[in-house]
Amino acid sequence: MTMDVTFLGTGSAYPSPHRGASALVLRTEGECWLFDCGEGTQTQLMKSQLRAGRITKVFISHLHGDHLFGLPGLLCTVSLNTNPEQQNLSCVEIYGPRGLRHFLRVTLGLTGSQLLFPYAVHELEPTADQSPEEGQLSLQMTAECGPLHPQEQPGRTIFLDASSDSYLLFEDKRFVVKAFRLFHRVPSFGFCIKEHDRPGRLKTELLKELGLKPGPLYGRLKAGKPVTLESGRVVLSSEVLQEAIPGRKVCVFGDCSSVLGDGPLRLCSGADVLVHEATLGDEHREKAVDHGHSTPEMAAAVARACCARRLVLSHFSQRYKPGSLQKDGDEDDVAELKRQAEDALQDSDVEVTLAEDFLTLPIPLRRP
Ligand SMILES: [Zn+2]
Ligand SMILES: [Zn+2]
Repeated sequence: MTMDVTFLGTGSAYPSPHRGASALVLRTEGECWLFDCGEGTQTQLMKSQLRAGRITKVFISHLHGDHLFGLPGLLCTVSLNTNPEQQNLSCVEIYGPRGLRHFLRVTLGLTGSQLLFPYAVHELEPTADQSPEEGQLSLQMTAECGPLHPQEQPGRTIFLDASSDSYLLFEDKRFVVKAFRLFHRVPSFGFCIKEHDRPGRLKTELLKELGLKPGPLYGRLKAGKPVTLESGRVVLSSEVLQEAIPGRKVCVFGDCSSVLGDGPLRLCSGADVLVHEATLGDEHREKAVDHGHSTPEMAAAVARACCARRLVLSHFSQRYKPGSLQKDGDEDDVAELKRQAEDALQDSDVEVTLAEDFLTLPIPLRRP
């Protein structure tokens, strides 16, 4: 099964002609999951190889505009491009902090926007230590008054599970998706997408020796069930299966100046890809932290603690132009951010990649 990540916006604060505001898409088998949706994400999608109509789930890390202003417009455009004759359109599941449900209901409601498909907002309840006090939304501000939007389905409210220090968003046959807490000027979350491990291949030589021919019994063994031979001998699936194929793990951090609790590092341990913000260079560390942001060295420390395979830096201040637009004499060089992370990871196996708008990173299957 193929899996890749495409960056649609890698700039902080606002979209510019050379960098979109925050958005990335994780694609698996034709299904697209969108992480953050800054202003202009829909035009970035149109310029990419991806199709907005394939988006089935949306994850919003926090309620700052550069991660959210694009969502109502994107939903409306997807609706415009939906065939009204199509029956049983599936619900777009949206996950994000408390307040997101109210934001969408008000923006879609006041603009009289009707969608051709249903949507549901599942809200994560932040804890009080995820931001300074002035960054916390009062219950009054996020109070949901009035009826649901006509296309809105009731969503869940998800609370922190104290024992794992994480939020379980959902689990299906292929993935388990959790969120974890970050510290930022407003409550911010990261997301961990973990593919389930898959059973290893069947040891066909051994099966032949046992007198088992290809057929339904092979499927039974592959599914982890035992098979009884005519002789009465019971064959366990563990005897005839090679080592399991480990599932892939992708972690996407929202804006932050630090992680909160031990959930993030535990969840992201061994990540194939860890996407972390690096808004400003290490020389601006004080300013970055003041604004609730990270530098490459800080992102590198997280990747090292998680033993991630690849650290992808993103969410750059608009002062850093993409490498292709860099001119001699430009003061702020985005390549320097990569060097700073690499310096901090010199004696580790973590690879560093700079995100760029429209960069697609394939995430290959791991070999056991
Ligand atoms: Zn931001
Ligand atoms: Zn922010």
